[in-house]
Amino acid sequence: FETIQVSELAKMMGVKVSELIKKALQMGMPVTANQSIDADIAAILADEFGYQIERAPIEEEILLQYIPPSPEELKPRPPVITVMGHVDHGKTTLLDAIRKTDVASKEAGGITQHIGAYTVKLEDGRTLTFIDTPGHEAFTSMRARGAQVTDIVILVVAADDGVMEQTKEAIEHAKAAKVPIVVAINKIDKPEANPERVKSQLAELGLIPEEWGGDTLMANISARNKIGINELLELVLLQAEMLELKAAYDRPARGRIIESKLDKGRGPVATVLVQEGTLKEGDIFVAGLTYGRVRAMFDSYGKRVKEVTPSMPVEVLGFEELPQAGDDFIVLDSEEKAKKIAEYRQRKAREAETAKEAKISLEKLFEKL
Ligand code: GDP
Ligand code: MG
Repeated sequence: FETIQVSELAKMMGVKVSELIKKALQMGMPVTANQSIDADIAAILADEFGYQIERAPIEEEILLQYIPPSPEELKPRPPVITVMGHVDHGKTTLLDAIRKTDVASKEAGGITQHIGAYTVKLEDGRTLTFIDTPGHEAFTSMRARGAQVTDIVILVVAADDGVMEQTKEAIEHAKAAKVPIVVAINKIDKPEANPERVKSQLAELGLIPEEWGGDTLMANISARNKIGINELLELVLLQAEMLELKAAYDRPARGRIIESKLDKGRGPVATVLVQEGTLKEGDIFVAGLTYGRVRAMFDSYGKRVKEVTPSMPVEVLGFEELPQAGDDFIVLDSEEKAKKIAEYRQRKAREAETAKEAKISLEKLFEKL
């Protein structure tokens, strides 16, 4: 809090208001019961009674001005998809195959930049966003940082190998995150492929295919030979429709850092997934421990863009320092605010670091004893 009423402070400490007023007077501060005093004065008074006032985080105070969008503000947004599965089951090959179905890449001149995420536009105009770093490591480390960016997981299972250790792990992670799974049974071109066996293995783990009365969508594909890719994307879009994914477009942007790097010429560069609102050139933002102003933005084709809507990934220039994957990204109305929040967060991070070091050295001390 910035200010507090004298009576409120007394109540919090469980002392009589009259006592508090008396103490204040003794200290040369005449106050009345319903007078508001600022946090520093309150801290001094509280100290007299043996209490310590914990200042509410400045960051929170400012960020709390966030008003969740009303239902009328919400409009459909594209799904954000992560590909997971056992090593060598074909994640990278599938992501490549999907990228090649993109009609917009032809318009943009072909080459997709590596920015950690990309958008695929289908012939009918529907779009899907893929997080380009496959594997549950990225998924879990993001989640560990409180960042849920994925709406749907495509689980790749090779039809010859069947369910393996990392397949099971991926299922567990997706379930823990409550993210629906669409299964891609891959490598069906192989003579030893046995999709039916894969289905029964998955059914044992609770992923029951629709044809068996369950609700898990599954497609047989060959990522290498580009068989069944469109069918798979149809299932993903069907799953997305069931989720009724929506976001507000007409408000300051919020999102997540997907990837970041220090570019020799351009300085700190990060891929931001916009999750709400519209990100515009010139916007001021805080992201994790740093802040900045959007100097320029590039889409996954390397094309400069001025505005970015929800579920769209974009490369952003203009960070003061390098943010980290998983960091939040929040547009604010003043640089002063952004800087204040970043500094506050840095201080908190330093304190946490010091506390950790102190704990470690204490533990070391005890080891020696
Ligand atoms: P990741 O480790 O899951 O990313 O797997 P990769 O995409 O790197 O694929 C592992 C190997 O499987 C590579 O040699 C691919 O060429 C091969 N592969 C991927 N998809 C298919 C497929 O549909 N059919 C066949 N026969 N091989 C595939
Ligand atoms: Mg790979």
